[in-house]
Amino acid sequence: MPQKTMENKARLDGQLAVISGAGRGIGRAAAEQLARVGARVALAARSEKALHEAAEAIRAQGGRAEPFVVDVSQWEDVRRMAESVRHAHGAPHIVVGNAGVIEPVGPAWTLDPKDWAYNLAVNVTGAFHLVRAFGPSMVEAGRGVFIFTSSGAAKHPVAGWSAYCAAKAGLDLFAETLAEELRTVAPSLRVHVLYPGVVDTAMQQKIRETPPERFPRVKEFQAYHAHGVLRPAHEPAALIWWLATPFAADYHGRVASLDDPAVRRPLAADLGLPLFASRPS
Ligand code: NAP
Repeated sequence: MPQKTMENKARLDGQLAVISGAGRGIGRAAAEQLARVGARVALAARSEKALHEAAEAIRAQGGRAEPFVVDVSQWEDVRRMAESVRHAHGAPHIVVGNAGVIEPVGPAWTLDPKDWAYNLAVNVTGAFHLVRAFGPSMVEAGRGVFIFTSSGAAKHPVAGWSAYCAAKAGLDLFAETLAEELRTVAPSLRVHVLYPGVVDTAMQQKIRETPPERFPRVKEFQAYHAHGVLRPAHEPAALIWWLATPFAADYHGRVASLDDPAVRRPLAADLGLPLFASRPS
């Protein structure tokens, strides 16, 4: 493929991207990445200060960014954001459901039911809220991409993470079901799920600080950090960028994992990036 065509397909000029969990970590890196390649970005998270700093940093680089203080577990918050975004800019082209929480961590029989329910309300219901709020305008426009940040924990039990594992497994099947529902009604809309690997963010710091009686594998995660093998957030951000482009069409309705060389290779070639290293998963 000639270089010029590759560049055009990778650019997101004129597109509007909504990203939840964009105040820090993977979501912030994704917002910065999408803005760098031309998208206008709407950033959502709960902490106003972090959100404003993230939006300001993007604007300082010449990007277009708007912060929205939103708790994705709260339908009214998400609905209000969608109304404001739609009113100003119309239907988004890209919606990234990335907001997530790991807590509560500990044996299932010891956890506070309210905390457990909140984890699912953020990780799963939060993704549904985005689809419910932005989906109608995207279906009507007949185009768009949903991208959900899931986790390898969706596929493997991890002692201490009952809420997180259950939530991410639920998120995966929610996304697959959504893809199935859109297939006939709006075949140009795509749904993607990514597994980012073990990424150097505040969430990993929380994991490392958990006492072993609540999280038996804590030493393993402390060792990842000590040995410097965590993925930098710009790597999953690049995966989110790739998934937002037509290059990733084959991954519609199925998981794209950064641990999979079959994902990392075309990502690097299509976007003109170095091949990301293999890391622990
Ligand atoms: P992070 O650094 O803790 O960032 C999480 C982001 O989500 C923050 O901006 C946070 O901001 C926001 N958020 C949390 N709860 C929210 C809510 N109820 N409503 C709106 N925003 C909310 O974590 P991260 O590592 O970047 O994680 C991003 C995603 O990647 C999550 O879905 C996580 O499960 C997934 N993931 C991470 C790893 C990893 O190793 N880091 C591995 C696999 C999957 P506020 O607190 O201000 O709301």
